[in-house]
Amino acid sequence: MSNARIPTTLAGAGWLTAPVLQGVLGALQRCGGTARVAGGAVRNALLGVAVKDVDIATDLTPDDVFDCCRKAGLKAVPTGVEHGTVTIVAGSGTDASAFEVTTLRIDVETHGRHADVAFTDDWEADASRRDFTLNALYCDASGTLFDPLNGYADLAARRVRFVGDADQRIREDYLRILRFFRIHAQYGAGALDADGLAACARNADGMSRLSSERIRQEFMRLLAAPLVLDVLGEMDAAGVLSEVVPVPGNVSRVARMSELEAASGREPDALLRLAALALRGERDVNHLRRRFVLTNRETGRLERLAATRRPAVAGAGAGQLKRLLYDEGEESYTDIVLFEASGAPGGAENLSAALALPREWPVPVFALKGRDVIAKGVPAGAEVGAILKALKQEWEASGFAMREEVLRARLDELARRGD
Ligand code: ATP
Ligand code: MG
Repeated sequence: MSNARIPTTLAGAGWLTAPVLQGVLGALQRCGGTARVAGGAVRNALLGVAVKDVDIATDLTPDDVFDCCRKAGLKAVPTGVEHGTVTIVAGSGTDASAFEVTTLRIDVETHGRHADVAFTDDWEADASRRDFTLNALYCDASGTLFDPLNGYADLAARRVRFVGDADQRIREDYLRILRFFRIHAQYGAGALDADGLAACARNADGMSRLSSERIRQEFMRLLAAPLVLDVLGEMDAAGVLSEVVPVPGNVSRVARMSELEAASGREPDALLRLAALALRGERDVNHLRRRFVLTNRETGRLERLAATRRPAVAGAGAGQLKRLLYDEGEESYTDIVLFEASGAPGGAENLSAALALPREWPVPVFALKGRDVIAKGVPAGAEVGAILKALKQEWEASGFAMREEVLRARLDELARRGD
């Protein structure tokens, strides 16, 4: 992929010729403005990566963007007035798309996430406030590239290079350290840019002032990116990883996890990689939850992985694996199998059988209900639950092999014993 030829124009690209996008660009143009697609969309399109969100830059003021799109029958929502951003919604139904239209700007003063901005009609100034040269490319409605900072050469080399002086750009916004690693892991190739890496190392301690939400966004994307292993190794060596992860990071376990995912045909799973990197036991769950603002569902997944009272997957027989799958449900079971295997150098020898189990063995349903117990003359109450529980345990212990008739015969025995 890294040597693939990079096109010199985006003319004819499907995402660019889409009528909804052409409609917005055309409306802005008809009001006398210049409007170009900016940043990530241009970068991705040139690299042949799917274009998800399309951001538009224009020399029209936010007020003019608002009015002129409304007049063209487009829905305009002032989503980020202080940054000069108006969101334009074009199309309807399943064709509806939203575009962020941002007026060319200069960040006069940056305080982390918040920048005091001044609007401008100078495209080079707008490019200069962006983080990396390959993120500072533009293209117009016909697909012609506009490259004020020579980002194209860096993009073709898949080199993530800071715009301007790296130390200064990092001190304006320390998130750029994480973005440097994340964007390289996703779109770069080869070694990290040496200047940028050195500046990240020098300024790593400034990351302590970043919000957990911003760290989460970048770091979870980094974990799922193609070059995650190289990048985590470099982050560790540069003293950046320890600013992000609250425990010593286990990069080689992430390497095994990503091999396991690939070998079992799974997509990269950022949360499993996070667990491989930093989950050593139950006490880490809370640290990770706070550090990465994990959702309840994500926290629950980590809790299941960290839980200690269950048999090891390695060396477990078919019956024990079925028991684990039954108790945990499919997602948690698969998480546990992969997580444990990632922690066992050499891997678990029964791994492929363990991973195949959810497909091969439909989880059975316990046949008896409370009313079956009551029908045997046991009075409704705690006794009913106790009998059911005992029978269910026998059923599970049999490897779910006890048939319904046998279970009912055992129920007769237990109900009689209680008389
Ligand atoms: P992705 O495609 O993965 O979303 P992206 O580059 O589009 O990557 P966004 O966060 O969507 O990332 O940002 C859009 C553009 O805004 C970037 O391409 C870059 O030009 C600029 N940008 C984003 N964050 C920063 C930042 N912290 N400092 C400077 N410029 C930034
Ligand atoms: Mg983006």
